[in-house]
Amino acid sequence: MKQRKNSLEERSPAFTFGSGKQGRTLFCDQLPAEQLARRYGTPLFVYSATALRRHVDLFARAFAAQQHTVCYSVKANSNLSLLRLLASLGCGFDVVSGGELQRVMQAGEKAAASAVFSGVGKTAAEMDLAIAAGILLFNLESASELDLLAQRAARLKKTARVSFRVNPDVKADTHPYISTGLRQHKFGVPINEAREFYRRAAALPYLDPIGVSVHIGSQITDTTPFAEAMQRVLSLVRDLSADGLNISFVDAGGGLGIHYQNASQAVTARDIRAYAKALCRPLRRTGLHLLIEPGRSIVAAAGVLLTRALYAKENHGKQFLIVDAAMNDLIRPALYGAHHEIVPATPRPATKDAPAMKMDIVGPICESGDFFARDREMPPVLGGDLLAILDSGAYGMSLSSNYNTRPRAAELLVDGKKVKQIRRRETFEDMIRNEQ
Ligand SMILES: *Cc1c(COP(=O)(O)O)cnc(C)c1O
Repeated sequence: MKQRKNSLEERSPAFTFGSGKQGRTLFCDQLPAEQLARRYGTPLFVYSATALRRHVDLFARAFAAQQHTVCYSVKANSNLSLLRLLASLGCGFDVVSGGELQRVMQAGEKAAASAVFSGVGKTAAEMDLAIAAGILLFNLESASELDLLAQRAARLKKTARVSFRVNPDVKADTHPYISTGLRQHKFGVPINEAREFYRRAAALPYLDPIGVSVHIGSQITDTTPFAEAMQRVLSLVRDLSADGLNISFVDAGGGLGIHYQNASQAVTARDIRAYAKALCRPLRRTGLHLLIEPGRSIVAAAGVLLTRALYAKENHGKQFLIVDAAMNDLIRPALYGAHHEIVPATPRPATKDAPAMKMDIVGPICESGDFFARDREMPPVLGGDLLAILDSGAYGMSLSSNYNTRPRAAELLVDGKKVKQIRRRETFEDMIRNEQ
């Protein structure tokens, strides 16, 4: 793919080029990426508070006409400081484990009250934690989960609000690993059997079935499947009302995709409005409260991974650039064949000795899957240059590991000219702490 040299000039409000001491250079909010990398080292995740606020605001505007709560999906990026910022912007949360719920509880005293708990395998201990915390809604995915939650709630003598995540059998065009709404997937209960599940739930003390949930997958850029799933959910809500249930919440899940291939327009107001229209049109005049669980669309484009080029080398006529970040920091290319735009923080002019060329950008890990880009046309890059892997705010740090005994990266939150280290770089001692 051709590198759009100036595409980031318009990208607003974060991660755009401006003029620095050495000419055109990448800024994270108002701070030069080079300066942050020198001060905090690489690999380094940098998040923009300005971009996060913008994305939350785009949702607020697009969904303004509909009673709704944005429950940010914690698994996309679970850093406590980001959760705190999102809570202060009025977001609720979608969690998929007891650990994520504990993060939310740390992020704000009242944050758990607007948390929904999703996932196919909640344990008794996780249920107890969530019941005691008084979360907004449990999204249940099987009859066995229903029975266990009924037991736990009865033991604690506390009513749990529940919804079933239904599997609407809707096809969404995305990577097979992150498509979840088809009948062959492990998720949800079959929508045509859902009435029976609700009947059972309604008959149990300490359970209050008040919602219907759906989540058809992730990185979905066509809004048609969202509208289709919503229509199927609403038809179920009508049946449930006929059965005498009082359903007041519809949880549409997350999954709205971003444009990784076009980093200057990764998230636009138009996209979010189209998404809102797909969900809200069928909801009109129903009086239902809509929950949405966006993760990626809020945080992906609000973050970059900064990495230093270590070496350039040529093998059998193929160019490789080896960088100091690896698949343990950002696994999306290795796991999903995902595309991320990669730009030099301070672009060099192409010369005869240092021309633009096609290269593989790879990490130091002992796996051929450890790559960030393959056959990518890049402007000249030399060892020591700083690169930014764009749109790395979602499913980067949260999917990171210590593979090859590599310490996890540091994370920064920038806001205008201010910078805060929101997670320090791991040390060797951190990595072996729990070992004998
Ligand atoms: C992963 C997930 C989300 C978030 O998906 P995004 O694609 O990041 O918006 C929301 N809800 C559930 C149940 C999920 O599993």
